[in-house]
Amino acid sequence: MKMLKITQEEAGSIFESLSQRYKIIAPVEKIGEGRFSNTSLLAYAEVKSFEEIEFFKKTERPAKEILFPVRQSLFEFKKKDIQELHEKIPPSIVFLRACDINAIGVTDAHFLNNEKFKDIYYKRRREAVKLFLMECKEPFGSCFCVSMGTNKTEDYSGFMRKLDDGYEIKVTDGELENYFSGGTPKDVEPAFVEKDKNPITIPREIDVSLFKNELWKEYSQRCSACGRCNTSCPTCACFTIQDIFSQDSNDAGQRRRVWSSCQVKNFAVLAGNHDFRVPKGDRMRYKVLHKIRDFKKLTGFNMCVGCGRCDDVCPDYISISKCIEKINKITGGNGDDG
Ligand code: SF4
Ligand code: SF4
Repeated sequence: MKMLKITQEEAGSIFESLSQRYKIIAPVEKIGEGRFSNTSLLAYAEVKSFEEIEFFKKTERPAKEILFPVRQSLFEFKKKDIQELHEKIPPSIVFLRACDINAIGVTDAHFLNNEKFKDIYYKRRREAVKLFLMECKEPFGSCFCVSMGTNKTEDYSGFMRKLDDGYEIKVTDGELENYFSGGTPKDVEPAFVEKDKNPITIPREIDVSLFKNELWKEYSQRCSACGRCNTSCPTCACFTIQDIFSQDSNDAGQRRRVWSSCQVKNFAVLAGNHDFRVPKGDRMRYKVLHKIRDFKKLTGFNMCVGCGRCDDVCPDYISISKCIEKINKITGGNGDDG
C-alpha cells in the first residue's frame, strides 16, 4: 500500500506513465453537449490528464456502459457457421464514487453469480478494469446512499482526492503502486458521506398483497414510459437481442445485445403476443420491487444503490425514493436502515 500527496506537476508525470498501460476513464463535464446548447453533459469518458476529471459533480449517466455497452456485438453468423467476436479490451482504470462501486457489485451479481453460466462478454470487460474511488464531499440532493447502505466501500485499487495544489492518493493495488512514485508520504483515508439530505427507510418485509395496492395506479397516469430511469440507473442490466443482417446477404449478419427497459411498451410481450405488464403502474411496481425486494431475496443485498439518478432524469418528476417511502408507510413502517 502507498499513501502520498503529490503536486500538480508530479500528477502530470504519474498520469503520463499510467496512461502508457491503462485507459483512464472518469467523470468529465462536456461543455455544450447537454440537452440544450448552453448546457453541459456530465458523463464518463476517457481522460488525457487528471485535471480533466470532474471530482465534484455527479454524472447524469452511470459508468455501467464501460462493462455493459449500450450495443454489443456477440457473434457473427453465416448460414449455420457461427464466429465468436473477440473484442480488444484495453486494461482500464475507472474513477467511481462509493455508490457506483457498490453498483458494480450488483452488475457482477447479475452477470457473474451463476457459476455455470457466467456472462463471458461482461467477464472479459470486468477483468480488464481497476476501480479508483472518488469522495463525495457532501451528499447530492437526490442521493440516498446512506439509507441504502452503499455510502462506503473498501473495494478499490486506489483512492484519489483533489486539492487546490495537487492530489492525495492511496494505492492498495500492488500492480499500480509502482506508477505512483515521488510525492510526499502522508496518511490518506477516504471520507464517506454519513447522512443523506433526505433519508428514507427501506421496508424490510414486503408482502405480495402490495402488488395489488392502489399506489401503482398513480404511476400509470404519471409515467410516460420513456425508459430514462433505466438507462441512467447503474444497476439496471436488462437487454434485448437483435440479429442484424448484412446488406449483401440475407443469411449472414451479427447478433447483438442492446439495452432494454422494463418501463417501455412491449418489454414484457411473450410469444403469442401476451403482455403481462400493460399498465405503466405495473411496470413501475416491477422495477421498484426488483430494486428493493426481489433481487435481495436472491443475493442478500438490495439492487438500488441510492444514487438518485432516476429521480434526476425523470421528465415526469417521478421519484423512486418517494415511492419507497410510500411503500414503507403502507407496509406499516417495518423498515430498517439498509
Ligand atoms: S436511485 Fe434509481 S438510478 Fe440509482 S440505483 Fe436506485 S433505482 Fe437505480
Ligand atoms: S424516467 Fe420517469 S417517465 Fe420515464 S419511464 Fe422512468 S418513471 Fe416513467
